[in-house]
Amino acid sequence: MLSVILPSFNEEGLITKTAETVADVLAGEQIPYELLFVDDGSTDGTREEIAKLCAADARITGVRFSRNFGKEAAIFAGLEQAKGDCCVILDCDLQHPPEKIVEMYRLWEQGYEVVEGLKEKRGKESGSYRASAGIFYRLMSRVAGFDMTASSDFKLLDRKVVDTLNALPERGVFFRALSFWCGYKKTEVYYSVQPRTQGKSKWTKRALFRYAVNNIGSFSSAPLQLVTVLGCIGLLVSLVFSVISLVQKIQGVALGGFTTVILLLLFIGSLIMISLGIIGYYIARIYTEIKGRPRYIVSEILGGKGND
Ligand code: UDP
Ligand code: MG
Repeated sequence: MLSVILPSFNEEGLITKTAETVADVLAGEQIPYELLFVDDGSTDGTREEIAKLCAADARITGVRFSRNFGKEAAIFAGLEQAKGDCCVILDCDLQHPPEKIVEMYRLWEQGYEVVEGLKEKRGKESGSYRASAGIFYRLMSRVAGFDMTASSDFKLLDRKVVDTLNALPERGVFFRALSFWCGYKKTEVYYSVQPRTQGKSKWTKRALFRYAVNNIGSFSSAPLQLVTVLGCIGLLVSLVFSVISLVQKIQGVALGGFTTVILLLLFIGSLIMISLGIIGYYIARIYTEIKGRPRYIVSEILGGKGND
């Protein structure tokens, strides 16, 4: 059986349509499936829409969070609830074309354990969004060590991979990169991002920035090494300046140079502050991990699993 995981946050207008579209596609291909809506603490009618679907069809399950925990958490909740032999993660705004699930499923039947959905064409995005996404993905690819420029959350994972991901103890996770990280037999399908038919993107610039910083932090400690590198550069510069000032002292022209002192002070001061900031950021990450709070809180389960 295939579990389709659909993270949904304030998508009341799309739930029913998405469920119907996906069900049609899969039923047409005789693929046994379950649909798992994860309501990420929506404040509109999303819960009611999901509840209606669950009541009408035993193959549909809804998991409701007690508040908004973010898409990553919703994906992981879906993976934990899924009963299928493989899982597909699909945006419930139909920006990921459901027909591609069939292609992914067929590849899975051939023995592939991870099928990555790669963006062939990004949907309509503003210039600044595209530019910042470009920088983020290049950085992320560097720190994570694999090319992530076209990656998305649209993937199919085999039960083995799902179990591996579910067993990871860490809280601050970046789903998209983890499926690369965990290896397994892998292949790709290409899809073009569809325009959103209803509602609007849930990402604000701030949320995206936080997402980027967190994901880099969760995959790399390179910024900490940067502190060391900056320290070494500082040391070299200070050596040069020591030689210069010593020579001036010996020659008896040691006065002056006040500007240099001020500039150096400011420069080194800011380097120290930035470095402390980076270290503080990682300490904060350790702090959150060590608290061991759950990634999300489920407030209720609708339909399917709730009854057994
Ligand atoms: N989503 C979610 N929790 C959030 C934000 C988004 O579950 O906090 C879901 C949303 O309902 C959608 C998917 O994640 O199904 C992708 O979100 P969106 O379409 O807003 O992002 P975009 O397509 O613009 O990247
Ligand atoms: Mg979308």
